[in-house]
Amino acid sequence: MLNLTGLALTPGSQRSWWLREALAQEQGRPCPPLAADVKADVVVVGGGFSGLWTAYFLTERDPALGVVVLEQDICGGGPSGRNGGFASGWWDELHGLVTLYGPEAALSACRAISSSIAAIGDFCDAHSIDAWFKRKGYVYAITAAAHEQICEDMVELAREVGASEELRELSAAEVKARCTSPAFRGGAYMRDGASVQPARLVRGLRRVLLERGVVIHENTPVTRVDGTTAFTAGGSVKAAHAVLAVNAWGIRWPQLSRRLVAWSSYIVMTAPAPEQLEEIGWTGGELISDFRTSLRYFRTTPDGRIAFGGGGGRARRTVDAMFTSDTRAVDETAAGFRLMFPSFAEVPIEDAWGGPIDVSPTHLPTFGRLETGNVYYAAGYTGNGVAPTYLAGQVLADLITGADTDTVRLPMVNATPRSFPPEPFRSWGAAVVRRAMIAKETAEENGRTPGFLVSQLARTPRRMGYLLGPD
Ligand SMILES: Cc1cc2nc3c(=O)[nH]c(=O)nc-3n(C[C@H](O)[C@H](O)[C@H](O)COP(=O)(O)OP(=O)(O)OC[C@H]3O[C@@H](n4cnc5c(N)ncnc54)[C@H](O)[C@@H]3O)c2cc1C
Repeated sequence: MLNLTGLALTPGSQRSWWLREALAQEQGRPCPPLAADVKADVVVVGGGFSGLWTAYFLTERDPALGVVVLEQDICGGGPSGRNGGFASGWWDELHGLVTLYGPEAALSACRAISSSIAAIGDFCDAHSIDAWFKRKGYVYAITAAAHEQICEDMVELAREVGASEELRELSAAEVKARCTSPAFRGGAYMRDGASVQPARLVRGLRRVLLERGVVIHENTPVTRVDGTTAFTAGGSVKAAHAVLAVNAWGIRWPQLSRRLVAWSSYIVMTAPAPEQLEEIGWTGGELISDFRTSLRYFRTTPDGRIAFGGGGGRARRTVDAMFTSDTRAVDETAAGFRLMFPSFAEVPIEDAWGGPIDVSPTHLPTFGRLETGNVYYAAGYTGNGVAPTYLAGQVLADLITGADTDTVRLPMVNATPRSFPPEPFRSWGAAVVRRAMIAKETAEENGRTPGFLVSQLARTPRRMGYLLGPD
């Protein structure tokens, strides 16, 4: 139990604020656990955005396909119903994309994500899903001198590839005009950014799939996928194709484990404070983040709350309670919020929750088919999956149905990034490096020079050839 601004709160003891809010609007039809051995064309493991968008696009490509989704919790019970709701573009990922795939392919990937953001809005309209979709762009705020060069390089690269209209520099006054905080200096503005209520979106998607005849079994953990048959305690699904859409839980799946480490991210949610938002001029609905590797990201809600997220410092070998009930991570996130928004000192933090993010060696996801057969995956979103999962669903549906589309030619399809080291080095290393990154960035933010050892440790991933953390 912890006490934030006078409110007793036990993180992890209840679902995210988003999901509670969404379930209060609409519970949806029950989807009982699997209790028989059945057959299907496609079995999807995981009822988050990746799995559900894949099922959705399969029904678009061929309405006659038999699709079964197996979810260990309820659909959206994982990060898809807990995230910050940033559906954001990839123009800030250009460095990694160009390094990996070259400028032309990088541009096509960015454009595909941009289209996905717009398409999520269209999907909500078409299916009467009120997911609070608001496309007002993304402000990057510099909060430490060390970030000035990072910001400049990011904007310069967009200019170099001919995308200066997508990402441009903001002066300190321009940042202030969108949101005033004593912590913000200058920054940048990315046009592609929409906020959503993520749980309303994922539950709305679930409703559309049920209407289309997709079979969903919730509270159905898959214990293994053998060939393309998924096994659970209550029965199995024998299918022609299997999709692994298990996000950070993939660290325990032999098919995916070397592609991922799991880090935590936590969000705190304030009480409604529309007057204070008005005072700081943050009424335009922009998404905002800083430039830390252990990113702090924040957005508003229609009733005037701030949802403020921050990367937690833990990395683990399994997705355990530390991803949902880590009071240190909640305290660190709340401290970040108080630092950036001192004028909200009297506004209570009403909620806090966390979840795992599936960090890839490149900071970017890959989608594809495993070499071992008709098993497909989408993994490695690195805490940025709201828009990319839509694209992943299209890609996987196209691969499964053999459609010859532009999406299957995108560079992250069937890309094979360098693997992480095997366990136990992977999770130990990830945990140590993560703490070092946070310590380095916190020192820089406070105007201190980080210690030598901390700086060296924080740079380890780059030195090992991974596109993660500071240079
Ligand atoms: C706190 C937090 C904030 C975030 N903020 C943002 C953000 O603002 N913007 C953004 O783009 N991204 C954000 N992300 C990341 C984003 O939520 C994910 O990238 C995205 O939801 C991934 O979708 P998914 O379907 O792949 O994973 P999930 O939503 O995790 O779905 C995977 C599902 O698989 C299920 N599963 C796992 N193992 C099994 C099994 N053995 N059997 C059956 N089911 C299983 C899980 O229960 C889960 O529901 C955030 C993540 C967190 C944790």
